[in-house]
Amino acid sequence: MISLTLFAPSPPAPVSCENCGACCLHMASPPFVTWSPALIAAGMMRNDGTDPNRDHPDWDRLATAPPEAKRALAEYHNQLLNGRDARGALESPCLWFDLKSKGCRYHEHRPEVCRAFAIGCDSCHEHRRYRGVASVR
Ligand code: SF4
Ligand code: SF4
Repeated sequence: MISLTLFAPSPPAPVSCENCGACCLHMASPPFVTWSPALIAAGMMRNDGTDPNRDHPDWDRLATAPPEAKRALAEYHNQLLNGRDARGALESPCLWFDLKSKGCRYHEHRPEVCRAFAIGCDSCHEHRRYRGVASVR
């Protein structure tokens, strides 16, 4: 009798984020649940305490990020509000992504969504396949 396990798909190969970054290449901007600290830092919004996400940990991550990180984010959203994306692409790399090192330049301040994304999950493998990143054996 032939064992059905012969036809079972092999488990996905283990992966490492080193030299990858495939999941950051379509984000355009860091996916924070709140933009307020960046906009406040850039003088584009008053801190009136009305942000509904004021208690979310992303607020502090973004509020304590380096000024240049907040400025880049604020400028990006300012361009979006004005109907432009200076880089002209929906599928552009996250503006905090370092294309040379293939890593997050402000990793310590990355949003919840990035922290929750599981290395080796189905979506991770999909991103890697789409970007042509080989699996590690
Ligand atoms: S696609 Fe997967 S392996 Fe690559 S950086 Fe993202 S989580 Fe890490
Ligand atoms: S914030 Fe960092 S980890 Fe998150 S998508 Fe951007 S580059 Fe990637």
